[in-house]
Amino acid sequence: MDRLFLKSVPILELIEEAGYEAYFVGGSVRDYILGRPINDVDIASSATPQEIKRIFPNTADIGIDHGTVLVITDTGTYEITTFRTESGYSDFRRPDAVKFVRSLTEDLQRRDFTMNAIAMDKTGKIIDPFDGKRDLAQKRIITVGNPHERFHEDALRMMRALRFVSQLDFELDPETFDSLKENAQNISEIAVERILVEFEKLAAGSNKIKAFSLLLESGLYQYLPLFSSKKDHLMDLLNLPLHQLNAAEIWSIIMIHTKDQEIEEALRAWKLPLKTIRNVQRTIKLVKSKEPAAIDVFQAGHGITVQAAKVRAALNGGNVSDAEENAQQRYNELIIKQMSDLAVTGTDLLIWHQEKPGPWVKEYLEKILRAVLNEELRNDKEEIKRWLVKCNLG
Ligand code: ATP
Ligand code: MG
Repeated sequence: MDRLFLKSVPILELIEEAGYEAYFVGGSVRDYILGRPINDVDIASSATPQEIKRIFPNTADIGIDHGTVLVITDTGTYEITTFRTESGYSDFRRPDAVKFVRSLTEDLQRRDFTMNAIAMDKTGKIIDPFDGKRDLAQKRIITVGNPHERFHEDALRMMRALRFVSQLDFELDPETFDSLKENAQNISEIAVERILVEFEKLAAGSNKIKAFSLLLESGLYQYLPLFSSKKDHLMDLLNLPLHQLNAAEIWSIIMIHTKDQEIEEALRAWKLPLKTIRNVQRTIKLVKSKEPAAIDVFQAGHGITVQAAKVRAALNGGNVSDAEENAQQRYNELIIKQMSDLAVTGTDLLIWHQEKPGPWVKEYLEKILRAVLNEELRNDKEEIKRWLVKCNLG
């Protein structure tokens, strides 16, 4: 068993000693069977949240309405969710009622895909009532039960299906895909924040091209923010080496034809964090500058320089890894990498000129910076002083 499971075994034992059942469930069990790295483990138990809180002295109610309690111990924190069923779903998303149950099988039955409905006990024994292991072996994404009902209940599952296609390089079961097509429009009932989480995982996955093509083929894209008007552009994406690009680079490519002043609003519709929006805007700006000068590279910084080079290569049919390497090198070769590397400061200029501070200081510093970056001027205090005199700036 993986180290993370072993570390959690004592938690399962404590729950069992108190007379309840407890298992590992969800993505960690799936990834363990696939031999993929595991980041966190989810624990499901027949004990109710109140019963869990009686077993462990230190807990936090992180999602108690849905049955999740965070157990805090000396060895770490553990999320424990009570076995539950869901019913209602009158609005294509949250269930109207969550009912705690004592049966593991009932809990597994409410889960989205067979590969996510596998449990493992503390000894490593697998409990798999819906043949998830078979589907893992066949690399198949298939809903637990009737796909039409399951997507109708919770439309987010359709986005999850596509992100697993990308992440795991799996196929969608044909019936599951047909139901996805039929239910596509219900995705518009889901909060964009939740769609974004799945979309970013899709964009980070290794088989994003396949996932993107299914996004288009199923029609699901039409109901995602700003995608409905971009069909042709999104189709073009399928011919690009997307697998070599990260999520921010993919956003840059998606937005490359959008007017500069409209990019922010469009990405806000997707609820992207402002930091990512700025990152995308700066990347696009550098991509669009025909031949970026040293000053552009300096101002963009390392991350954006590399990102922009990759995006440009991807769009122009160039070699993305070569472009990445060249951009790294270009950045590393900059004579200076930050303003503080410059051999003179604003204070030096004020002393030399005996003038009042004002916008001229910034202007002069920028002129010096450009000259140094273009290797027309050595980054040396005395030389810079002489250069200023020569340029009638002294
Ligand atoms: P990841 O490795 O990205 O965390 P995951 O499968 O663990 O993938 P989570 O969102 O962490 O995904 O969900 C944990 C588990 O909860 C899933 O494996 C699945 O069993 C269940 N689950 C999550 N979202 C849904 C949903 N919308 N409908 C049904 N079951 C779900
Ligand atoms: Mg998970």
